[in-house]
Amino acid sequence: MELYCCQEHVEMALDEVVYECETYPVLTQVSEEKQLSTTCEYCRNVAIYLVGN
Ligand SMILES: [Zn+2]
Repeated sequence: MELYCCQEHVEMALDEVVYECETYPVLTQVSEEKQLSTTCEYCRNVAIYLVGN
């Protein structure tokens, strides 16, 4: 599971990964280059973080 999220929704994404996968989520920062083409799962902001497991 992988979720892209902005600064504002990072906690929501972390909660979702924990809930869905029941594993501890891994938070990584999206490279600046990739931020330009990636948007948050929950809003239209640029994605800053990738939450995975
Ligand atoms: Zn967002």
